[in-house]
Amino acid sequence: MVATMMNAQLSLNHIIERAGTLFADREIVSQMPDKSVRRHTYADLLRRSRSLANALIDAGLQTGDRVATLMWNHHAHLEAYHGVPMAGGVYHTLNLRLAPNDIAYIVNHAKDRFLIVDDVLLKLYAAFAKDVSFEKVFVVSLTDAPVDGPFVSYESLMADVPAGWAPPPVDENQGAGMCYTSGTTGKPKGVIYSHRAVALHSMGSAMTDTLAISQHDCVLPMVPMFHANAWGLPFTCAMVGAKQVHPGPHLDPVSLLDLYEREKVTISAGVPTVWIGIQQTVSQNPGKWTLQPDMRMVVGGSAAPEAMIRDMDKLGMRVIHAWGMTETTPLGSVANVKQSLIDKGEDAQYAARAKQGIPVPFVEIRAVGEDGPVAHDGQAMGELQVRGPWVAASYFDFPEANDRWTDDGWFRTGDVVTIDPDGYIKITDRTKDLIKSGGEWISSVDLENALMGHQDIAEAAVIAYHHDKWVERPLAVVVPKEGRTVDAGALSDFLISQGIAKWWLPDGFVVKDAIPRTSTGKFLKAKLRDELSDWTPESSGS
Ligand code: ADP
Repeated sequence: MVATMMNAQLSLNHIIERAGTLFADREIVSQMPDKSVRRHTYADLLRRSRSLANALIDAGLQTGDRVATLMWNHHAHLEAYHGVPMAGGVYHTLNLRLAPNDIAYIVNHAKDRFLIVDDVLLKLYAAFAKDVSFEKVFVVSLTDAPVDGPFVSYESLMADVPAGWAPPPVDENQGAGMCYTSGTTGKPKGVIYSHRAVALHSMGSAMTDTLAISQHDCVLPMVPMFHANAWGLPFTCAMVGAKQVHPGPHLDPVSLLDLYEREKVTISAGVPTVWIGIQQTVSQNPGKWTLQPDMRMVVGGSAAPEAMIRDMDKLGMRVIHAWGMTETTPLGSVANVKQSLIDKGEDAQYAARAKQGIPVPFVEIRAVGEDGPVAHDGQAMGELQVRGPWVAASYFDFPEANDRWTDDGWFRTGDVVTIDPDGYIKITDRTKDLIKSGGEWISSVDLENALMGHQDIAEAAVIAYHHDKWVERPLAVVVPKEGRTVDAGALSDFLISQGIAKWWLPDGFVVKDAIPRTSTGKFLKAKLRDELSDWTPESSGS
């Protein structure tokens, strides 16, 4: 066939080289553990990423080798995002909230050759060092502590590259980054992101009807850089030249709000549990922070309850609800309001925004039930399956999980959804969280979202407990807002007023101070199921 267009490789090098020259002065702000701030620019990021790439090649890095990172969100982590792929390597983000033996398992499984680690995380590294064997450990100084012993100072790698230095050529299908699923569902499994996948994902994410990120934005990804590439935001920002603000280890609401105000942040991103804290802090301190008008908050990782979206809107923080997975780089769908809903009123629009949204261009979706793909009628439930250029084609060295891909080439997400005629996906559960009562499904997510709309409830998680007659029945675990109490009868009445069917009502409401969380801030329902495995209506006295 005669070539129609040039076959230019989609390489991440292009993104950083363009940002470093066209947006040379645009800032990258990093907050340190002592809350001081380091200010860099995209020109610095390009220069330092090249230095890192050059140093890694000198250290013996070969194309495809993995370089582990154990870092908070800051400039050096960003340099690894760009510099490691520039050297032909694959940056592999380690989740610093995992137990040391789990981190060691992941490092060994990925066969990571080098490690870049924050000095403040060396204690964590020491807890698993004996179980792994990095060839070199580069230490990033975030404090004044000297780098010594067997470690190499990261800063010593930052020598300027020789004149005429150029990175090795990149095949767009080679690996650039790697992340393991957090293991909420079984053993952690690794996904390798290609240059091509990340480049296309950045374009898809920046689009106006996706996250609408432009060079005029200032973006603070509070989602950790070890959680699914910080949702790809560092690359999306570099692609468009947006200012980046990285909070370091300070992820409490007050520190984040201080940064939003000071750095004039226009977009931030994180899981709902963090937003719940921000929303409460802002409500309790009216007028304390002046945020940018129409600030946008990307919420994903777990469902954003409609009540939360409404409350955040009232506080001037517009929620953009998005769905994704480690396996999808991660963005799959975004719940913006479609043109066809504009005339349908506010309630219809909020209902749409509380769904997981419509797929991003190039991501195809279907919901598959026992008899094949289900109708897009907003009623029929099926497992969400996806395919597209930034959806993983396999896990790294984990053939046992090959059944996550169908014979006709779709990835099985493990999320149970409905899809409505407008194309909006609504997650009703993860397969493992579904509650089957007397042969009928009950959506724990619907119950949770309704409960979190109650004025006295801060958090709610609904799990199945074993029932002799119905096999499974729902049990709610609720955390009241500060100073509030809850009453089971009133909560049931409230759920009915919210349109919940009577047979869906939880058989009990267990009150707790907090709901256990996964390493990425999601409700850890497996732990609740363990803790409450003996629960019966009789044992609770209800
Ligand atoms: P893990 O599988 O360990 O939780 P991921 O971060 O990859 O790690 O999680 C992906 C899952 O998170 C999805 O399959 C889905 O169940 C859930 N999820 C992501 N975004 C949303 C959302 N907006 N609403 C509900 N669930 C979500």
